[in-house]
Amino acid sequence: MSDKRIHSAKWSRLAKKILIRDSYECAIDGCDTPATTVDHVRPSSKYPELFWDEDNLVAMCAKHNFSKGAREAGETRNTWYNPDWFPPDYIAEKMKQ
Ligand SMILES: [Zn+2]
Repeated sequence: MSDKRIHSAKWSRLAKKILIRDSYECAIDGCDTPATTVDHVRPSSKYPELFWDEDNLVAMCAKHNFSKGAREAGETRNTWYNPDWFPPDYIAEKMKQ
């Protein structure tokens, strides 16, 4: 079951903040795909108290975030992803700064 908090405006704001903090770089070593999602390091289905904890959040590219979800069978991944907010050109520009 998905956490309803993922759809809140508060989460959208926090996710944007984390992406900026991590410079849109995927947390996976060696990955150079711009991060457009935010991953809960410790899954919020098991650690709901860490949902808003910035230390538990990392920027991650969509591919790695969703493949991580696939690996953890039965685990709900709470992922923020809105490609309209961060089109590739926008991210490329941010990563140059
Ligand atoms: Zn990645």
